[in-house]
Amino acid sequence: MNCKICSTLFQEFLEKSLCEELIAEMDDHMQACRKCRTSLRTYKLTIMLSQQADPPCCVRPETVDRLKKILLQRFFAKEDVKIKV
Ligand SMILES: [Zn+2]
Repeated sequence: MNCKICSTLFQEFLEKSLCEELIAEMDDHMQACRKCRTSLRTYKLTIMLSQQADPPCCVRPETVDRLKKILLQRFFAKEDVKIKV
């Protein structure tokens, strides 16, 4: 195990999709290698932050406001029609 291999396996390591042998090798390497420990921590943080940065749904607040206005307009338009009838 070396730093290059170790860092390319971070994703699989975190997803626990590696075989036990490789996980053991990575653990061994990271115990001895501070650089890879730090890199893994940074990698984890980056994933966490990028997940948090994702909006909870695909609709932006501006879009929600616009939709509300359209719905209100339609609602009042209907009311107008009712009043006319
Ligand atoms: Zn290393």
